[in-house]
This record gives sequence, structure tokens and C-alpha cells, in this order.
Amino acid sequence: MKKKILITGAAGFLGSHLCDRFVSEGYYVVGMDNFITGDKKNLLHLKSSPNFEFIEHDVTEYIKIEHDLDYILHFASPASPIDYLKIPIQTLKVGSLGTHNLLGLAKAKKARLLIASTSEVYGDPLVHPQTEEYYGNVNTIGPRGVYDEAKRFQESITMAYHRFHGLETRIVRIFNTYGPRMRLNDGRVIPAFMGQALRGEDLTIFGDGSQTRSFCYVDDQVEGIYRLLLSDYPYPVNIGNPHEITIKDFAEEIIKLTGTTQKLIYKDLPVNDPLQRQPDITLAKKLLKWEPKVSRAEGMKITYDYFKALSEAELYKSEH
Ligand code: NAD
Ligand code: UDP
Repeated sequence: MKKKILITGAAGFLGSHLCDRFVSEGYYVVGMDNFITGDKKNLLHLKSSPNFEFIEHDVTEYIKIEHDLDYILHFASPASPIDYLKIPIQTLKVGSLGTHNLLGLAKAKKARLLIASTSEVYGDPLVHPQTEEYYGNVNTIGPRGVYDEAKRFQESITMAYHRFHGLETRIVRIFNTYGPRMRLNDGRVIPAFMGQALRGEDLTIFGDGSQTRSFCYVDDQVEGIYRLLLSDYPYPVNIGNPHEITIKDFAEEIIKLTGTTQKLIYKDLPVNDPLQRQPDITLAKKLLKWEPKVSRAEGMKITYDYFKALSEAELYKSEH
């Protein structure tokens, strides 16, 4: 019998790559999404697969699934700061009510649930690099709080189901991940810089560009999530690439990669934008025998080729 897995957020960037991975591993995959930040085209190639079906549904509403389920991956949630500032209430609801629905479903189906948490639970971190033991530094009432606190609540309720109901749970704390199928206009720094380079616009640096991030290629992230799901570890695990870079140096790398002749321009740093971020992946290395394999140069080249191949209409589609 094929193992059956429900993946929420299936039409999004990470969700669609996870659907691909589990279909290719021989699972029967049920994808679920309401398209609030996702795109049907991310799943078109799976349409004819006998091992994939899609249900259009908002996970904050009661979820009814006919199949038995072995696993659930809860990836539905806006993930770009611009998205969750635009739809703050939906962001809070999908992390709280949506997660509660999925926990109930997992309990009813006796399925193992893995939730997509985030480095944002560490907020603007005072510990560097960030280990899983760090409790974080989040402004609950700041504009980013809608995402950070939804994800923190998501972790708490997931652990409560684990402790109280004995549910099998997994928690991945994902650090900035990139690759093909990100939305060109989602406002995250990689699509933002690449879109600007392709349209011949100046690259917008928020703040002075000294803030750092550590970018993980999507295939590495998916491998880490796959191994975590199949592990027996119920507590949070960081998955990300520890190779840290300032946003200014990163913009220079994009200028070299794309050959753009545009310059860097500076805009205000968004409120509570974390000044530094780098995963400590000691735990993932030990527990999952996992570490990232794809260098930033390789991953960025693949991602740029993907954005370059998009139509003019997509390149100039304005969302904000
Ligand atoms: P994405 O916006 O591309 O995908 C999210 C998907 O969830 C979209 O298809 C959207 O339509 C769907 N969705 C949102 N609310 C929904 C709802 N109520 N019901 C059903 N579907 C809903 O974002 P992504 O980068 O693929 O992120 C996926 C998950 O991973 C999110 O939970 C995000 O918080 C987490 N994450 C991502 C990153 C990253 O760097 N990409 C980092 C940390 C955490
Ligand atoms: N950023 C930037 N210019 C942009 C978009 C983002 O300088 O056009 C910065 C942003 O302020 C942050 C970093 O790039 O410091 C990463 O932003 P992103 O939105 O990708 O994700 P975050 O890690 O902040 O969730």
C-alpha cells in the first residue's frame, strides 16, 4: 500500500517542491491550497499523475478528507513580509486556527504531522548563530508579529497535542530558502533583486544593507524536511544554510550574476527587520545526517535562469 500524505500550501513555493518530492518517492499526495499567495501553475505538471490530487480549500475552515492519511505537512501560510503585512489576519488565522484544524485531522487519522515553523520565531535574535534552545526576541505588537507570533503559537499548540494526545509531531524551523517557483513579485529579497535586474531597475536595499541573512537552496531544504519527517524527533530542528552574507554584499553578487548596469539605491529598513540571521545546524547534522550541498553560486544561477525564462507579462505584473 502506498503511504498517503496531505500537503497544505501545495500551490506555493515550498509546498509544490514537497509535492514533487513525495510523488517521486512513491507516495500518494493530496495537495491543498486556497491560492491566497500560491499559483496553480506550480502544480500543472502533476495534474496527470495518478499519485496526486488537489483540493482547493482554506485550511482555517473545517477540513474533510476521505482518505486515510499517514502523514501531514502543514505548509500553508503567507511567508513573505510583504504578503503577511497585506493579509495580517489571514496570516494569524492560518498559523493558529489552520494548525488547530490540522492537528485535529492528524489525531483523527492517526497521522504524523510536520509543521513549517520559521527562523522568525527567533525574531531579531540576540544569540548568533541561532540554536534551537534560543527563546527568541519578538515584538508581539510589531507589524511582523502577526507572522512570528502565529508561528510561535503553532509550535506551542503542536507540542501540546504531542504531550497531551501523544500525537506524532515534527517541527522544522526553516531559514530563508529560495529557488524556482518563488513569486517574482512576492517582495522577498531574491525575487525582488532578480526582478529589478531583469526589468533594468535599480536594486533596492532596505536600511544600510549591513543586516545579514543565510540563504538555503530549495532542494537542500526539501531533503532536510524529508529526513526530519521520517526521523523520530518531536522537537524543533533548524534547517537552513549557515553561509551568512550581508544584504549589500548579496546585492553585489546579484549585480555580477545578472550583469545588470543598474546601481544600488537605499530605502528605509522595515520595522523590526532582523539585523542578523544564521542557523546553527549542529542538531540537524547529528540527528538527520543532513547538511546543505548546493552553493549559493549554483543555486542562484538556477534561480536566475528560472526568472529569466518567465514571460514579459509576469515580469511586469505589479502586485504591490
Ligand atoms: P508561499 O507563499 O509560496 O506558499 C504558501 C502557500 O500557502 C500558498 O500557496 C498559499 O496560497 C497557501 N495558503 C496560505 N494560506 C492558506 C490557507 N488559509 N489555506 C490554504 N492554503 C493557504 O510561501 P513558501 O515560501 O512556500 O512558504 C511555505 C511555508 O514555509 C510557510 O508556512 C512559511 O511560513 C514556511 N517558511 C518558508 C520560508 C522560506 O524561506 N521560503 C522560511 C520560513 C518558513
Ligand atoms: N530586502 C532588501 N531589499 C528588498 C527586499 C528585501 O534590502 O527589495 C532586505 C530585507 O529588509 C531583509 C532581507 O532583505 O533585511 C531579507 O528580506 P526577505 O523579505 O527576503 O526575508 P526576511 O528574512 O526579512 O523574512
